[in-house]
Amino acid sequence: MDIKVKFMGGAGTVTGSRFLLEIDGFNLLIDCGLFQGLKELRLRNWEPFPVDPSKVDAVLLTHAHIDHSGYLPKFIKEGFQGPVYLTEASLELVKILLVDAGKLQEEEAKFAAKKGYSKHQKPLPLFTQEDAEKVFPLLQPIDFEQEVKINERITLTAYNAGHILGAAILKVLIKGDNQEKRLIFSGDLGRYRDPILNPPDEIPFGDVLFLESTYGDRLNNASDVDKRLGKIIRETYQKGGISLIPSFAVGRTQMLLFYLHRLQEKGLIPEIPIYVDSPMAINVTELYKKFSHYHHLGPSLEEKGANPFLHKNLHYYREQEASMSLNQLRGDAIIISASGMATGGRILHHLYHRLPNENDSVIFVGFQPEGTRGRKLLDGEDTCRIYGIDVPVKAAIHFIDGLSAHADQEELVNWCENFISKPKFTFLVHGEKEASEKLARILKDKFQWNTICPHYLESFELFTGI
Ligand SMILES: [Zn+2]
Repeated sequence: MDIKVKFMGGAGTVTGSRFLLEIDGFNLLIDCGLFQGLKELRLRNWEPFPVDPSKVDAVLLTHAHIDHSGYLPKFIKEGFQGPVYLTEASLELVKILLVDAGKLQEEEAKFAAKKGYSKHQKPLPLFTQEDAEKVFPLLQPIDFEQEVKINERITLTAYNAGHILGAAILKVLIKGDNQEKRLIFSGDLGRYRDPILNPPDEIPFGDVLFLESTYGDRLNNASDVDKRLGKIIRETYQKGGISLIPSFAVGRTQMLLFYLHRLQEKGLIPEIPIYVDSPMAINVTELYKKFSHYHHLGPSLEEKGANPFLHKNLHYYREQEASMSLNQLRGDAIIISASGMATGGRILHHLYHRLPNENDSVIFVGFQPEGTRGRKLLDGEDTCRIYGIDVPVKAAIHFIDGLSAHADQEELVNWCENFISKPKFTFLVHGEKEASEKLARILKDKFQWNTICPHYLESFELFTGI
């Protein structure tokens, strides 16, 4: 038996995670992600998939983030009909995220048509909400740490990755004619001291490792997050202003709620109302309650006072009118809204009303890529274009790091240290070139591992005649 891998994304870049395993004529795709970020990458989403999707037998998903799952609707439109294996919590999250992504695609296409900036006569979305819903019947839930048979020779086991709810490290065990081989896909790995999720499981054996390297060249200081957050909120409150936090709906919002609850419990910030103004964040928070056995907040979710998602100062706003009513508030409140990079969504009307007010604060809690409104605000631009208007920026703009859901360089190396035997190959994936290369060097120097930073569309023979 021969085993080959082809990198169809997530190579030399963080997004577009998709790796094709060819196992004696059986084609298994690990992750089916969308490219995000720079235009040259995003254009790959529009190209035909490098192999005929109808020839792919099954998809395995590490987790629900769009850069790992968001290509599925198009993949199915192009002919894929097989099962998509993922953990139960990932299944619920993927449904929410794909439909939302379809909605955004439709809105963007409509906007492009109105503005006339598209080269196409009638700009089309990459996929619609309806396309997203066509993914649902193919989704096959699996349990953590339970071996699942993909076919007579291939089994799959999911282990906790601690990155977002339901995120898994996948072990693909392949029985050859003479030998067995274990292929380990780290997916995105979480942090060792996450306030909500459990740390990534240790994996002692693997013949081939596909390791994420998002923070391969960086440390990410998670200490004092609550102190730094508390200080800004306190100062804003004393000025009579409102703290506005643009936040991603999955993971980040729930972590913020945890910190804010703890700060209020300890009396470190005033007991002012906290508004979660994002229907998607509300739906995702519900899933944290439903899958309480997947994280270590479990028992506290039973008690109202101790539950960071359900305490007396917390208000969930689902309706559009309720969201707009928050613009009337003049002080004594914290507002959390999406999107985290202020690229779209309800956060725009909040920024429109808050930025001109010098008493208010805007607190970014995630990385803001080049070209986004978030980056421009952090760079100190004195106006911000929203709804076609240059809004003056008088509010205080802050950034708090350390809230990322990714293991940093030190944690990635620690996780690798748990391997008892050396993998034959370690591929560094899900990272910018510099980050992957840096981590590859460290693993080579420290453990003498055979590390490879693959290129887009590069193929490797992993095993022959096993
Ligand atoms: Zn992720």
